[in-house]
Amino acid sequence: MELIDTHGRVATDLRVSLTDRCNLRCQYCMPAEGLEWMPTEEVLSDAELVRLIGIGVRRLGIRDVRFTGGEPLLRRGLASIIAATKELPGAPQTAITSNGMGLRHTAEALARAGLDRVNISLDTTDPETFHRITRRDRLQDVIDGLQAAKDAGLAPVKVNAVLLRGMNVDQAPDLLRWCMKHDYELRFIEQMPLDAQHGWSREAMVTAAETLELLSDHFVLEPLPGRGSAPAERFLIDGGPQTVGIIASVTRPFCGDCNRVRLTADGQVRNCLFAREESDLRTALRDGADDTEIARRWAAAMLTKLPGHGIDDPSFLQPTRPMSSIGG
Ligand code: SAM
Ligand code: SF4
Repeated sequence: MELIDTHGRVATDLRVSLTDRCNLRCQYCMPAEGLEWMPTEEVLSDAELVRLIGIGVRRLGIRDVRFTGGEPLLRRGLASIIAATKELPGAPQTAITSNGMGLRHTAEALARAGLDRVNISLDTTDPETFHRITRRDRLQDVIDGLQAAKDAGLAPVKVNAVLLRGMNVDQAPDLLRWCMKHDYELRFIEQMPLDAQHGWSREAMVTAAETLELLSDHFVLEPLPGRGSAPAERFLIDGGPQTVGIIASVTRPFCGDCNRVRLTADGQVRNCLFAREESDLRTALRDGADDTEIARRWAAAMLTKLPGHGIDDPSFLQPTRPMSSIGG
């Protein structure tokens, strides 16, 4: 069985949200006061999670597993979940998307457990701007986390940045220079309508075209071919070998090549970041369904995957779950 949808796309890349909790409060993601977190009893245990990931890998063709959240480093069992994932047939590629806080202490253990790659979110290297965006004074922790990831051999270390008007747009070239100096691969992501406060607006969003123009005033950027199902359009910087990525999730969606499926921390399968429906695997799991039945339900969940996210449609409705609970 494979996770194929009615438009012929096959999902092989599983994004697992390990928690909806976070220790930052990024403006584009969460309100200052945080959110009402998922009740503990609804969150899948490590064993339940590993069982579902195992079904995805053994029976449904999943080859890549990325752990995210919320903040995945807040999940105590992270190293053992990674180790158990790596032991599955075919040793799936493992990655985390993280804000990097605390990674200084854990990067090496995670690498030993079988973590292959990290994407760390960092929108600025200016402490004041960092505080304005994340509402916490923790820039140095993130910088230390990045260094620890590199030292642990989790290369290439990728950095995700979101540009916000009036906050860090002017700093984009400096952020790129800083990433180049440390040999981190920077990717700018267009802000998406997934924040809990519903503060996103098309007009305020910094587009990929604008980002490219802004960077082109400082660097010679040459587009690289061969993007495949990767969301980032990559550019060689000043003749290379370093590159920068731009992820135009809103203005140039890559839905036609999507190979992803998501599992939330409370055991719901989402066939798209923007899906308005979910399939409840937790109840099936806790009611004693066997692997065949769970795999069948998971495969069925793919059949309602829409051809695109439709953000530009007048009828677009933001999903009820915010990004931090879906798993970005
Ligand atoms: N806490 C981790 C982190 O920040 O990397 C993982 C979860 S976070 C939701 C995953 C990614 O989504 C981060 O790179 C973050 O910058 C990005 N993100 C969050 N809200 C976003 C939004 N509204 N639009 C675009 N990207 C967003
Ligand atoms: Fe936390 Fe990541 Fe959301 Fe920032 S983007 S508040 S680090 S979950």
